[in-house]
Amino acid sequence: MSDISEYSRNELMKFIDINPLDIEICDVTLRDGEQTPGVAFTKNEKVALACELDAVGIEVIEAGFPVVSSAEKNIVREIADMGLDAKICCLARAVIGDVDAAIDCNVDIVSIFIAMSDLHLKYKYHKTYEEMCECAWRTIEHAKDHGLGVRFAAEDATRTGIEKLKEAFLTVEEYKVDYVSIADTIGILNPSTTHYLVSEIKKTVHTPICIHCHNDLGMATANTLAAAEAGAKQLHTTINGIGERAGNAALEEVLVALRVQYGIDRYDTTRLTNLSNLVKEFSGIPIAVNKAIVGKHAFSHESGIHVAAILEEPRTYELFLPEMVGNRRNLIVGKHTGTKALKGIIRDMGYSLEHDELCDLIDRVKICTEAKRGIPRNRLEEMILDVKVKMHDL
Ligand code: MN
Repeated sequence: MSDISEYSRNELMKFIDINPLDIEICDVTLRDGEQTPGVAFTKNEKVALACELDAVGIEVIEAGFPVVSSAEKNIVREIADMGLDAKICCLARAVIGDVDAAIDCNVDIVSIFIAMSDLHLKYKYHKTYEEMCECAWRTIEHAKDHGLGVRFAAEDATRTGIEKLKEAFLTVEEYKVDYVSIADTIGILNPSTTHYLVSEIKKTVHTPICIHCHNDLGMATANTLAAAEAGAKQLHTTINGIGERAGNAALEEVLVALRVQYGIDRYDTTRLTNLSNLVKEFSGIPIAVNKAIVGKHAFSHESGIHVAAILEEPRTYELFLPEMVGNRRNLIVGKHTGTKALKGIIRDMGYSLEHDELCDLIDRVKICTEAKRGIPRNRLEEMILDVKVKMHDL
């Protein structure tokens, strides 16, 4: 059985005029993800995550911010020297020394960022727009002179003003930067405004556009996809959506949406559950049970109606099969389990019960689940055996 079928495609997509997406992923888990409060990855953890991201087929990995510490710099250099297929990128302020650190790390791309919003200029930099731009242009020139790929990242771009943003992007285009990046640093966008902003920028700027979305309103994944529809090339993600505050667009959500809704199937999504578990372990940040794609309940079913249908055809209640993301289906026996569903579940466990035995079992299940908890498989097995013994005794 293929993991996606015609049932998985949203019929409504047919009515929307979307060009085929021309995208790449830049995963920023090792940089922005690490800026999650309380998170610090070790060298071995970062190396393991970089290898896994590369195996998934991620095109660009943002490995860190070298000037943070000499240890961080060593890790970025080590990842850059691993010979992965993915290009390696690192972060730099508009400071020559930051770019020199990137050069030392042997990265492919340096992401030079400045904020140009009035708020950041006044309260963070205490500099004028012209002074900040001057720093940025000088730093970009330095990076290009040393043969680095350059992303010019506009931090707080979504509160900068569209004309100012266009003007800056047109200027850096003259310096032949490889990407311009729109960072929705405080997560203010929604899908409509994202689409408008990217479309407007694309009218005048011809350099590939990156989109970097934060999840303060829970829209990071939706905004990222809206940007892709409007022609953004590079989509920024983090595994499990970790990152500053409410986090970033989640890699697993973006990749599965690209596959299911837009037909992009070149990424090895079967590795996503494992990758998610690694980040959960390394970061110490638990995953909500109802988290899309990788949450414990993403493929769990308890309702009798649902389970009975799933046992006949999983797509009745699953958008895609759990195997597609390296996960497994979990049929829960609990308060809402019906007779038909229970019969199917015990059959899958290798048991068969007579009608009376089944009725007895369902009574026990209902009593047992009054405490609102599902029954684990080993407990259910004990109950099945118990019912069989009892019936034999009669
Ligand atoms: Mn960010």
